[in-house]
Amino acid sequence: MKIVKTIDELKAYRNECTGSVGFIPTMGALHNGHISLIQRSLHENEHTIVSVFVNPTQFLEGEDFNTYPKRTEADIKICQFAGIDALFMPTPETMYSSCEPSIFAPSQKAYVLEGFTRPGHFDGVLRVVLKLLNLTQPTHAYFGKKDAQQLYLIQNMVRTFFLKTQIVPCEIVREDDGLALSSRNVYLNATERQEALHLSRSLQVATQKIIAGQRDVSALKTVMYEALQPLHVEYVEIVNRDFDTISTIEIGNSIILVCAKVGTTRLIDNLWV
Ligand code: AMP
Repeated sequence: MKIVKTIDELKAYRNECTGSVGFIPTMGALHNGHISLIQRSLHENEHTIVSVFVNPTQFLEGEDFNTYPKRTEADIKICQFAGIDALFMPTPETMYSSCEPSIFAPSQKAYVLEGFTRPGHFDGVLRVVLKLLNLTQPTHAYFGKKDAQQLYLIQNMVRTFFLKTQIVPCEIVREDDGLALSSRNVYLNATERQEALHLSRSLQVATQKIIAGQRDVSALKTVMYEALQPLHVEYVEIVNRDFDTISTIEIGNSIILVCAKVGTTRLIDNLWV
């Protein structure tokens, strides 16, 4: 496995690749969720590139940029063991200059839900993903459905800017008890770890109601809020796959989203129905 730190090295590596290239952008502290994306890429491409970069532009003032978990040595070992071809680990100075054009995510889809409490977050996400896709020129890029709004906005960007990469949505990987894997789960103490299960349980409650025939979004949101007690709920929303809010569940075209704070840790989860 080649560890790549500079743009020139990455370009040189990419130029040597013949055949399909799969790319998995991450912020590191790799867990089984990331590994599932990596394995899918290894299976579907001749070359697999992973990036580990905690992107400063997607963090707002006062967020956890400085304390975001860093596991550099473990990340390198995981990537080596998985059998990827190249690991790109740039610094912020490598990725950004002091004077550069920016990119703005469409406000009606990027300043709601995650973007409502984190205004500008998705501008930073799209900015770094556009740079990374341009650098790695992947045939396929793999993103988790866990970050459903991010996935939608990236697909929208790729379509809008006529990028050649195919975006591959990947299933959410969970712990045995249902908690969606996240690098931020390490912030949870033992009590909070138990409380965090309210998120996936609220989605299970919604699933049971939908199986029983419930299609009304406000009725589903009510039972979810109940299941989320006593957490501080930031939002419960049901959207279609274009991230428009809907009043009736459309099977095969809906996503149920939840965001709640467990202690000081903000967690998200969702269910594609
Ligand atoms: P991050 O390192 O949190 O920026 O995540 C990098 C990629 O891994 C994103 O596409 C995430 O959606 C994806 N990811 C994170 N957690 C999970 C999970 N539990 N299951 C599947 N994909 C995930």
